[in-house]
Amino acid sequence: MSESRLGLTGLQDTEFMADIDTSLIVSMMDCISGASGIAIVTHTHPDGDALGSSLGLLRFLKAAGKDPVIVLNDRYPESLAFMTGSDSGSIIVYEEDREKAVSAIRESGLIFCLDMNAFGRAENLEKALAGASCPKILIDHHIGPDRELFDIVFSCTGISSTCELLYYILLGTESVGHDAGKLPAGCPEALLTGMTTDTNNFANSVFPSTFRMASELLAAGTDRDAILSSLYNNYRENRFRLMGRLLGDKMKITGDGVAYMIIDRSLADEYDIREGETEGFVNIPLGMECVRMSILLKEEDDKFRVSIRSKKGTSANRCAAMFFNGGGHELAAGGKLVKGRDLKTGSAAEAAAYVEARTGEFLSM
Ligand code: 5GP
Ligand code: MN
Repeated sequence: MSESRLGLTGLQDTEFMADIDTSLIVSMMDCISGASGIAIVTHTHPDGDALGSSLGLLRFLKAAGKDPVIVLNDRYPESLAFMTGSDSGSIIVYEEDREKAVSAIRESGLIFCLDMNAFGRAENLEKALAGASCPKILIDHHIGPDRELFDIVFSCTGISSTCELLYYILLGTESVGHDAGKLPAGCPEALLTGMTTDTNNFANSVFPSTFRMASELLAAGTDRDAILSSLYNNYRENRFRLMGRLLGDKMKITGDGVAYMIIDRSLADEYDIREGETEGFVNIPLGMECVRMSILLKEEDDKFRVSIRSKKGTSANRCAAMFFNGGGHELAAGGKLVKGRDLKTGSAAEAAAYVEARTGEFLSM
């Protein structure tokens, strides 16, 4: 591990960099200045890090005189709407306007993929991304990036979030010149918000560089209290009623120390649960000494969405990749169980049996 020019020490993964290669930042800026039309794409079901990094980059590009757009597969949850401010008009959502989303990608002169390691993570935008011939730049912190798809790759798994990685990339640009105070308006808030949600407010995947980023942004005047209030003090009552029901009634703990909870459609309907309102639920069972892995299943029409969290020594990423058609990070991953394929009847009872059997198999390996 080498001391980096940008002070990015303590990176666990040196696959791509223990240092952000300044020449890559220069190449990125060359691509930006030559491009007419820039699309920023991130993963499906955008979370705080996906939206924060996209907005942070959008604001940086706008300040650089560009006219970028963010193209999402599906709309961000209402709970994150506070992040977009006056930029909501720069966001195109495939599920709301398919043609506009696809042509924005097709007609752009440069594409950024943020917080995703492969085109498939953008779900319905995958084809358009694969078909676009313009240069593509990846900025991501997930395991196993599909490097061949991109002209420039900024990939680091030993970092808290894509927002943190983007922060250090932007710091290295000429206009910012290693001075967080020179980031364009709205950029610091977006980056600090995404880093906060991906670390679960500094609880997971926090490195010296993460605190350095936070420290520099606070020193530059970023209002963290306002961010925390928007993120954590604005939920609807329903979330907490469902949380109580799940923990009190629904959570199961297997003999192997796997806690799992299933939110089927009738339960979600009963509590009028909207996208994003169960954020963080999956972390709670890890607070028990006897639990080594926690799994949350949420039913959708054709599948169950799966969230997995684990404690050190148990790989959420491997479990997600082996049995849940997904992946992510070592201790935080996700995936899905498709009805009619992974599950025959697609009932919640069958999903529960699947989780018990597969996690048992996984932990005995
Ligand atoms: P969450 O449980 O918060 O939805 O996701 C946790 C992590 O797993 C995130 O880093 C997310 O990108 C990743 N992840 C979630 N769902 C999937 C999936 O279906 N496929 C892959 N490859 N990663 C996923
Ligand atoms: Mn992320």
